[in-house]
Amino acid sequence: MTETPALELIDVHAAYGRIEVLHGVDLTVPRGCVVALLGPNGAGKSTTLRVASGQMPPTSGHVHLSGHHLNGADPDRLARAGLCTIPEGRGVFPNLSVDENLRLFAYTAKVGEKDIRERTFAQFPRLQERRSQLAGRLSGGEQQMLAMARALATDPALLMLDELSMGLAPLIVEQLYELVAEIAATGVSVLVVEQFARRALAVAQYAVVMVGGRVTAVGEPADIESQLSEAYLGGAA
Ligand code: ATP
Repeated sequence: MTETPALELIDVHAAYGRIEVLHGVDLTVPRGCVVALLGPNGAGKSTTLRVASGQMPPTSGHVHLSGHHLNGADPDRLARAGLCTIPEGRGVFPNLSVDENLRLFAYTAKVGEKDIRERTFAQFPRLQERRSQLAGRLSGGEQQMLAMARALATDPALLMLDELSMGLAPLIVEQLYELVAEIAATGVSVLVVEQFARRALAVAQYAVVMVGGRVTAVGEPADIESQLSEAYLGGAA
């Protein structure tokens, strides 16, 4: 018998008002795998993450998290089921310092403050140097590191990342993806959304391409890469 996937979307439809933007999306994240969700602007990638993370109910179809049917479950229940989402725009508190952000993460994740601080600073020495600075004043890469520290604090079963590389220098993107690979190596399943694909494909075991609210290709990175144009793959990402 095959293992229950970390995440499974089956024939998911979703709409903003009366306008349907997901027209029957099927997507599977096997346990312990990194899956890259790729596609051009407006393809429906973020909407797919919103549905998968309980922020938006599907109009029809099914969302299964580790085999549990979780359509329309609230984000708290999904967090308890092991889901952690880092949204586009990163989900840190810009008006709080790095230290204060960590304190809040510890509180919401119900883990010790000392514990999360030690883990974060071991993983991201840069954040230790900047611990008194407001998160809003950090560079984009440092903010992304802080957001990932939150994700790691919760020991998630499934981590969903939206546009990890957005607005970041190639070297930083490289480092963050190395971290994604390390996180996956500890057994965490990862779904990563990217508009430009090269970095995500380098760490992913599977890739899913969406266009116009539909999945148009699923496969191993090498197969998908050969189908995507150079312009689409993007130099930096
Ligand atoms: P991007 O990389 O630009 O974020 P995406 O692949 O993540 O693209 P979505 O953001 O999911 O795509 O958008 C899918 C479709 O839904 C687009 O046509 C978009 O205009 C529309 N859409 C997205 N968010 C909303 C919203 N809050 N209200 C109405 N329509 C929306």
